[in-house]
Amino acid sequence: MPTYITNNSKETQKLGEMLAQEIKGGQIICLTGDLGSGKTTFTQGFLKGLKVKGPYTSPTFLIMKKYDKNIYHIDAYRVKAKDILALGWEEMVKDNPPAGGSVIIIEWADRLKKIIPTPPAGGSIWIKFKWLGENKREIQFV
Ligand code: ADP
Ligand code: MG
Repeated sequence: MPTYITNNSKETQKLGEMLAQEIKGGQIICLTGDLGSGKTTFTQGFLKGLKVKGPYTSPTFLIMKKYDKNIYHIDAYRVKAKDILALGWEEMVKDNPPAGGSVIIIEWADRLKKIIPTPPAGGSIWIKFKWLGENKREIQFV
């Protein structure tokens, strides 16, 4: 699967926007990587690409933010799988897939690994972020 190097945050947002063009609904986008590696930046581009109504704030202090069209942004940095279950996770992923269902993008998704559906029950895309330098990031679709 492809690996990209971006040289500024705009390029990372563009990658997020490009991914959004491929999304038909019913998908869980799982982002991993250290603090500052670009997960939120990528998510902002992704939400823009899906044309959901902003502002695209970071949910770090909210855990989860729901946008229109059944689109969710989760930041699992401070939580455990059971906290996400308590927020109605089963209901959220119920329609993942088929196409047309909810779209869930998750930062620190490795913390929720045990509750993220795997095929054939669900479709997920895993993306690894790595800090390479002040403005340089590696973004790997795994
Ligand atoms: P995370 O959500 O992984 O903690 P953020 O997206 O919140 O990371 O933060 C990334 C920070 O790095 C932002 O301040 C952003 O402006 C900066 N940055 C610099 N270069 C890049 C790049 N190539 N891609 C993404 N962010 C970058
Ligand atoms: Mg973040």
